[in-house]
Amino acid sequence: MNLHNASLKVSAVNAKQYPTDGYMEFAFAGRSNVGKSSLINKLLNRKSLARVSGTPGKTATINFYNIDDTIYLVDLPGYGYAQRSKAETEKWGKMMEDYLANREQLVQTILLVDSRHKPTNDDIQMCEWIRHYHDRVIVVATKLDKLKKREIEPNLERIWETLDLGEDDILVPFTTNDDEGKYTVWDMINMMRAGELEEE
Ligand code: GDP
Repeated sequence: MNLHNASLKVSAVNAKQYPTDGYMEFAFAGRSNVGKSSLINKLLNRKSLARVSGTPGKTATINFYNIDDTIYLVDLPGYGYAQRSKAETEKWGKMMEDYLANREQLVQTILLVDSRHKPTNDDIQMCEWIRHYHDRVIVVATKLDKLKKREIEPNLERIWETLDLGEDDILVPFTTNDDEGKYTVWDMINMMRAGELEEE
């Protein structure tokens, strides 16, 4: 899958608006500004299908991108917005929990963390949520190009340890500057589609 036909199917604010086609779904979660829109655009070879931040959205929506009428890439609302009110944060939590717990089409949620930083408490909680709902945790460490070469290994190790990853889990280094991470993420998605990424 190199050239994709991708379009935003729906920007949902509640479960009634989720697509009903039944395609498998692969979701992306992470802190605001972690590089989620950039990663989705990179996967799809698009400049700006998913919105790249500037105006951090306060409205929590779940965005479903139809890919080739076969799967959905799902952009989950980011967390960690300082300007989100308590009520808005609660709404975010309900929406996320409802999607993660009840969505039958959801195959895997992929967690994005910034490769430069130690994962935050919010990242750890999100990771625990994902572990609860899936057999394995897949983490993408974003903005790898911002690290010096000698920082890469220790930073990835710090992410692995802080998130308490185990032998079935996967950590993928990622940057939008080259295509390596993009191909790795697509390979994982395609293996999951085919049921080939099984537990050891
Ligand atoms: P989102 O809020 O998680 O959707 O994050 P965005 O995709 O909007 O990215 C936040 C900022 O990080 C933007 O200024 C992006 O250009 C930048 N960014 C995202 N990915 C990368 C990357 O791989 N390398 C670098 N250097 N910057 C990136």
